[in-house]
Amino acid sequence: MLEPLAHIGRDPGTGGYLRDAWSPADLELREWFAGEAARRGLALREDRNGNLWAWWGDPSPARPGVVTGSHLDSVRQGGAYDGPLGVVSAFAALDVLRERGVEPSAPVGVACFTDEEGARFGVPCVGSRLLTGVLAPERALGLTDDEGDTLADVLRKAGRDPDALGRDDETLRAVGVFVELHVEQGRGLVAEGRPVGVAGAIWPHGRWRFDFRGRADHAGTTRLADRDDPMLPFARLVLAAREEAERLGVVATVGKVRVSPGNANAIPGLVSAWLDARGPEERAVRELVAALAGAAAVQEESWTPEVRFDAALRDRLARVAGGQDRGEPAPILPTGAGHDAGILAAAGVPSAMLFVRNPTGVSHSPQEHAERADCEAGVVALADVLEDLCR
Ligand SMILES: [Zn+2]
Repeated sequence: MLEPLAHIGRDPGTGGYLRDAWSPADLELREWFAGEAARRGLALREDRNGNLWAWWGDPSPARPGVVTGSHLDSVRQGGAYDGPLGVVSAFAALDVLRERGVEPSAPVGVACFTDEEGARFGVPCVGSRLLTGVLAPERALGLTDDEGDTLADVLRKAGRDPDALGRDDETLRAVGVFVELHVEQGRGLVAEGRPVGVAGAIWPHGRWRFDFRGRADHAGTTRLADRDDPMLPFARLVLAAREEAERLGVVATVGKVRVSPGNANAIPGLVSAWLDARGPEERAVRELVAALAGAAAVQEESWTPEVRFDAALRDRLARVAGGQDRGEPAPILPTGAGHDAGILAAAGVPSAMLFVRNPTGVSHSPQEHAERADCEAGVVALADVLEDLCR
């Protein structure tokens, strides 16, 4: 099932994926989702915020659904598994339930959340944050991509209504429980020697934009003493982020930088850099950002507090998902990555995650991989979990 997706948004030069939200590649993936729903006779709904839902049975507030799924967009130059594995496994697990002759007592839903990665507009989990009301529609609509188009412009071009955006209680009430399967973004399961694990907590994490302003000038004729070069404090930021992260026991990354005017023979006038920082404790992450803030104008673009998944649900999943493998509960792993399941959990929807082993641990890269047998173990574990939950 991953095969028909393999070419969509693929950069032929690098093999990486470019699947920005609402890009032609994303629209093609959404068409694929609609086709998979139709092939199975599932009722397709697109909610007010562009998230897709395929329903087996009709959910209502009195009879909310057991929902699984993930996202289809990617980071720039991302891999094939982050997101799509969860959506493909959701459809495959539903097929397994039907093969088993399960007649679910609750509706079963497959979800695809919009713009999970935030590759285009800088804010991750836009679809689930709008759905749950933690992202205000006015702020979302004003987000701007590298071309200068706002989300409102982009939605209009895609034939959607920007005015519809916002907290959507009707859709949210249809979700009784949400389970997201995801490729692991680390090597925890390799260390455990297990194909499938369960998420414990999602570390608190955020993104900050640092703007260093200087004076653009000629690279040849401007004496060193006369320069106001913002690249220098930017370079100090990168090194200091690493040092402070080591000191505080967190992770910090400067993975995106924009230099203006961006000429090899010009001193820059402006350097904008994005810091991503995460860790087991909010206090340490905040301390890191405060320690780095000195020289630049800093703007917090997103912040997600720690998410602890529902403990009873987590343990139930570990028990059920581990059943097929050794009969021991699946291992419980913390994660430094944000997910839509975390946004739903924070909004009070009982939520949980399954992870599928990633042999190298590499993610957000074309090298991201999961073995076929482990993906199949993930589908079976997900089917077992759904069957258990919709009893
Ligand atoms: Zn993901």
